[in-house]
Amino acid sequence: MGVYNRAPLAFDRGRGARLFSTDGEEYLDCVGGIATDGLGHAHPVLVEALKTQGEKLWHVSNIFRIPEQEELADKLCAHSFADVVFFTNSGTEAIECALKTARKYHTANGQPERTEIFGFDGSFHGRSYAAVNASGNPSYVEGFGPRLPGYSQLKFGDHDALKAAVALPTTAAIIVEPVQGEGGARAIPEHCLVSLRALCDEHGVLLIYDEVQCGMGRTGKLFAYEWAPGGEPHIMAVAKALGGGFPVGACLATTEAAKGMTVGVHGSTFGGNPLAMAIGKAALETINTPEILDNVKTVAGYFVQQLNGLKDRFPDVIVDIRGKGFLIGIKLVANNREFMVLAREEKLLVAGGGDNCVRLLPPLNLTLEEASEAIAKLEKACEAARAKLTAA
Ligand SMILES: *Cc1c(COP(=O)(O)O)cnc(C)c1O
Repeated sequence: MGVYNRAPLAFDRGRGARLFSTDGEEYLDCVGGIATDGLGHAHPVLVEALKTQGEKLWHVSNIFRIPEQEELADKLCAHSFADVVFFTNSGTEAIECALKTARKYHTANGQPERTEIFGFDGSFHGRSYAAVNASGNPSYVEGFGPRLPGYSQLKFGDHDALKAAVALPTTAAIIVEPVQGEGGARAIPEHCLVSLRALCDEHGVLLIYDEVQCGMGRTGKLFAYEWAPGGEPHIMAVAKALGGGFPVGACLATTEAAKGMTVGVHGSTFGGNPLAMAIGKAALETINTPEILDNVKTVAGYFVQQLNGLKDRFPDVIVDIRGKGFLIGIKLVANNREFMVLAREEKLLVAGGGDNCVRLLPPLNLTLEEASEAIAKLEKACEAARAKLTAA
């Protein structure tokens, strides 16, 4: 189906932050499969996990115990607020599970009327019916029939509307990305996450974080909410870098929040299979180390400093530098799609984003040297963008 706007470019090999195109060119990859190749391409630990598990066992049904799944679940819980996990194959499915878990919780509590889910404008939660209805982008819901009942969006930063929404007796949950990804790398201030959690607790509303993009080390901590002690969620969706490029997602929750998710109410055929779990475990163990998380903090600091330098020198091209860690947004004057082409001509791959941003989502093990190479390429792209603006 013609649903993708593809660049005229294909790759046949990758290593670390490098991608090699079928026509023999080498690119510096700051897309990372949209924040998914968290450890770059062909990371030896992940390749080893894939090969070893691939020769043992790929798939068995969830009607059996799956030791690899229990191990990964234990690890995710040991390093987060959560007590229980449901595994999926994608971020969207993790979001589906989160939304269902929230509504079931209230039903289990004898309050089935609590069904309203409030999200925020500019958010992205995936492409299933529930996910597009929970997201803020009208172009993703139009033409697909009536909107699902029980989903609305609040204006980012409108505290009064948020307070009123949480206080409604019909509200089930608030869903939010601690750092918006597709929306253009917008980070929610840490104190706001803490207040949001307190507000939810006051009214018996569940707080769902969508860390599909900003989790798994992307911000320099394993989960973005860790920057806001006291601001942890009741339910959280992760995916993308959880499998380092292999499809794995997970919905994490406290025992209390998941109390409605009893035998038979939810499930997945592929979710949590031994192959996906072995790779997820290898990715988690590699990402959740001081070496990787400190690298993100250090190199992200360098990026922010250098990018602000570019912004000062090219105010006619760059308006704002935003985001957190390795979820970096560059808001442009020039059209972001055109800028992506200019960067590509410099052999640098960057992702698009809402609010006329391009995003840098490099692998978490990107070196300072590679970051400085990215900056040099961005500088050339800025020069080319300026030349185009002047000509126009
Ligand atoms: C990518 C993304 C999703 C959807 O994940 P898929 O794996 O594409 O289904 C959901 N939420 C956020 C924040 C994302 O970035």
